[in-house]
Amino acid sequence: MQKLLLLGDEAIAQGALDAGLSGVYAYPGTPSTEITEYIQHSKQAADNGVHRDWSSNEKTAMEAAIGMSYAGKRALVCMKHVGLNVAADAFMNAAIVGANGGLVILSADDPSMHSSQNEQDSRVFGKFALIPMLEPSNQQECYDMVQYAFDFSEKYRVPVLMRITTRLAHSRAGVIRKNPRKQNEIHIPENLRQYVLLPAISRKNYKELLLKQNDFINNAINDGWNTLTMGSNKKYGIIAAGLGYNYLMENFPDRNIPYSVLKITQYPLPTDMLIKLATETEELIVMEDGYPFIEEQIKSLIPSSLIVHGRLDGTLPRDGELNPNLIAKALKIDKGEFNVIPEVVKPRPPKLCDGCPHINSYLALNEALKDYTPGRVFADIGCYTLGALPPYNAINTCVDMGASITMAKGATDAGILPAVAVIGDSTFTHSGMTGLLDAVWEKSPITIMILDNSTTAMTGGQDSNAYTKLESICKGLGVEENHIKIINPLPKFHEENVKTIKEELDYNGVSVIIPKRECIQTIGKKKRTC
Ligand code: SF4
Repeated sequence: MQKLLLLGDEAIAQGALDAGLSGVYAYPGTPSTEITEYIQHSKQAADNGVHRDWSSNEKTAMEAAIGMSYAGKRALVCMKHVGLNVAADAFMNAAIVGANGGLVILSADDPSMHSSQNEQDSRVFGKFALIPMLEPSNQQECYDMVQYAFDFSEKYRVPVLMRITTRLAHSRAGVIRKNPRKQNEIHIPENLRQYVLLPAISRKNYKELLLKQNDFINNAINDGWNTLTMGSNKKYGIIAAGLGYNYLMENFPDRNIPYSVLKITQYPLPTDMLIKLATETEELIVMEDGYPFIEEQIKSLIPSSLIVHGRLDGTLPRDGELNPNLIAKALKIDKGEFNVIPEVVKPRPPKLCDGCPHINSYLALNEALKDYTPGRVFADIGCYTLGALPPYNAINTCVDMGASITMAKGATDAGILPAVAVIGDSTFTHSGMTGLLDAVWEKSPITIMILDNSTTAMTGGQDSNAYTKLESICKGLGVEENHIKIINPLPKFHEENVKTIKEELDYNGVSVIIPKRECIQTIGKKKRTC
């Protein structure tokens, strides 16, 4: 069998392709982006006509994947953890309509917030939706589990959530491939009402989902992904989930662990295994990346007298990602200086690239606002968040995708005038357009700057669905034509641009200014590939 050296993300992509994938749907988001990129560059995907274009946002991606599953084909939908919030409406209802062709939802969590606004744990969403979850502990499991997930999804007619974390997504290991499977033929659901969530049908579907829960638990016990290995030392029983298991094993290169270990990579929790571990050990230690998700749940399953260590009692830190050193400390293993980060690896504070064309957009905005009191620029997710830092100090907020426009609107409702929203072109089509419609409807006196760099820059230059369409979208949403201004953010046009921004700040209605200049990183990339 062929052996490939793959990132965790790439192992998921290759696993899905070899499982007979018909379409991947996604919006770029670190650390999930490379899954879709791998499929976009795959000859196997091209030869087999696999759908692999970017979606406008995670909700549209989720809905398109549900549609492909409806048609009987296998669909993968990928996002970062905060993207699952955007997709939550479709995600929760996907659990109720179920699956026809296999439907796998991949959410990549970012504990330690390397490039995210929060470190929420997608396992909570999986439990909320009552669907089975998989959490691979290494790259081979990423490959194997996605195939298992598609089979499981089709067998039980349910979407399956796979959760990975940054460290697994972005590290490489050898992965052994299996023979590729053919794509499913188109076949629509036998029950033509399965996907119609009228209350009477939803109630029936929901009951069926509840009835499947025991099957999900039995599979978590019997399918072999979760394993319980009893050790001779009964002092500690270790519960290690997903990548936590890998970190544990790094502390025992000879694999000779004296304690009993329950490895969890499939949910709902395997209750019988947990109870056996709990009855045969004196204290439990839970090692999981993200929230104390298992730690909180097991307390209702084990005797209250049993001591449980983990993130809640401070044995492991409550926030941030785990690592082998933290696991060693929790087990009181004295390894001295272990896995020390070399001096050469320095934390680099994020900043706008030198020569970023939209530095000039911020310089013009700062000058146009210099006679007003501070605190009136509402910004968004993406490169331009970095305008918050010195020397620009150009923005005051960054909350979630699309929030710049709606927050500026709310601030003007409260009397802050003028108020400015700053958003990138891709973020605008992701979640800004509906906010703009609200502002147009209420004739809110806000100035919106859509910094157009012709790409989704922060995640590496993926296609922006806004490309060449911003002006016409704004017109279509009702912005008056003479208050849509295109400017060129070059230093030589600085005075002219400041004048334009000032004029629109004075306008008592919705105005949109679009500074247009392509990201220098994507220009460089194009030149290198020419
Ligand atoms: S990636 Fe492009 S848009 Fe983002 S900061 Fe760098 S040059 Fe600017």
